[in-house]
Amino acid sequence: MAVSTFKRGLKLPTRKHATEGMPVELVPAPKQVVIPINQHFGAPNKCLVNVGDRVSRGEKIADAAAPGLMTVPVHASISGVVKKIEPRTQSNNTEGLCVVIEADADSGAAQEVLQEVLMSPLDPFNCTKEEALARVREAGLLGMGGAGFPSHVKLSPPPNKPIDIIIADGAECEPYLTTDEAVMNEKPHLLVKGLSIVMKITGVNRAIIGMEDNKKNLIPMIERELRVGNIPGDISIGLCRTRYPQGGEKMLITALTGREVPSGGLPMDAGCIVQNVGTLVAIAEAFTLGKPLIDRDLTVSGGACKTPKNIRAPIGTLLKDLPIAFMDIDYSKLAKILFGGPMMGTAVPSLEIPIQKNTSGIILMTKEETIAEFEGPCIRCSRCIRNCPCRLSPVIMNNSLEAEDLDYATRAGLMDCIECGSCTYVCPARIKLVQRFRIGKQRLRIRQQAAQAAAQAAKPAAQPAAAKS
Ligand code: SF4
Ligand code: SF4
Repeated sequence: MAVSTFKRGLKLPTRKHATEGMPVELVPAPKQVVIPINQHFGAPNKCLVNVGDRVSRGEKIADAAAPGLMTVPVHASISGVVKKIEPRTQSNNTEGLCVVIEADADSGAAQEVLQEVLMSPLDPFNCTKEEALARVREAGLLGMGGAGFPSHVKLSPPPNKPIDIIIADGAECEPYLTTDEAVMNEKPHLLVKGLSIVMKITGVNRAIIGMEDNKKNLIPMIERELRVGNIPGDISIGLCRTRYPQGGEKMLITALTGREVPSGGLPMDAGCIVQNVGTLVAIAEAFTLGKPLIDRDLTVSGGACKTPKNIRAPIGTLLKDLPIAFMDIDYSKLAKILFGGPMMGTAVPSLEIPIQKNTSGIILMTKEETIAEFEGPCIRCSRCIRNCPCRLSPVIMNNSLEAEDLDYATRAGLMDCIECGSCTYVCPARIKLVQRFRIGKQRLRIRQQAAQAAAQAAKPAAQPAAAKS
């Protein structure tokens, strides 16, 4: 099988050996969960429960404040009583409204299962497209690879953006992380089922399951599922070189199809929809079991972790509540706690942070594993330019942001940056480039929202003038 890739990028030490090939172990239901009500990319949700309410695992606790907004609902991941509704620190280090649920004193893992509130199963091949999209939304599904983009929105591109290829993203290019590999290893039938559901919803006849060539041992079992599953349409497996950030949507599309996503564009501008393999499995479970997204598979690893594992935990489980068998920390070595991988993840200040729908891993890093904190002056070596997979000039964007020139940074491609962190990794001066780009993009979004609000506010004043003419 040919191995494809994209230009530039990095050959990183994968550091996956500690959890590679390990099964996903089920974490017992914790005594409490802290569930952020906004875990998606889009408009904020409204809380549907009050303090003192009893909730069952699987019950909806937050949803859109108004119809038509880009949102996904959030569900209780354990059965119990709502103790608090208050702002807490989330995995992206921002404060957000969370529902704190305390389990009943007598509720054990077995009882939790009995108390689950599930939706009725739905046959995706005998329902309308609208019913299928409503099920994807109602299950609270979003991009589990990290972005948190609502899945039902991704699966309904506008009519002027025809899609002809669905890509299952199993590249998992971040060092340490092995959850996607475990999902493909343990649930190839659900991966293939989820993919066929997405093909049915979108009416697309061709799909590619993309993975890096360090996972090619999974090919025979996926091929067997494709054979025995008697799946309609053309589904193939695409091997890509193990190269960072191969799992980025744009890089995967280029490697597997030869197409380029245009500057400022989305995968649909190249005729593609990319879905993480974990999301596809969750889509299959939403239809076959009626299960909303209430548990999360993730990798726990790093040099300061004494028990590297792939685990499945209820969403909202605080890191401090993970039993020692699932996350035993060597505090003498611990330098940094990361949510996600070391290239795109976020460092968090404590163990009081909940596991969320898009948490792909918890990496407990030693000092030796982290990039040195010192920051020197730019020595104009151009390494950041040579290694940017999006062919941007990070040094120019950084200079523009330092000069407070947001417009120039935008013209230099700030919004095309996929925040992969390759430039920061290779920079000999240890300049925190990607961190600045994240802040710069945030500032740009705030400025755009302010401009939209100002334009909206100016409308009534403009109406009389328009009426006169
Ligand atoms: S500029 Fe953005 S896309 Fe390019 S290497 Fe840096 S973080 Fe990655
Ligand atoms: S890699 Fe760092 S030092 Fe080299 S040009 Fe880019 S910003 Fe400057």
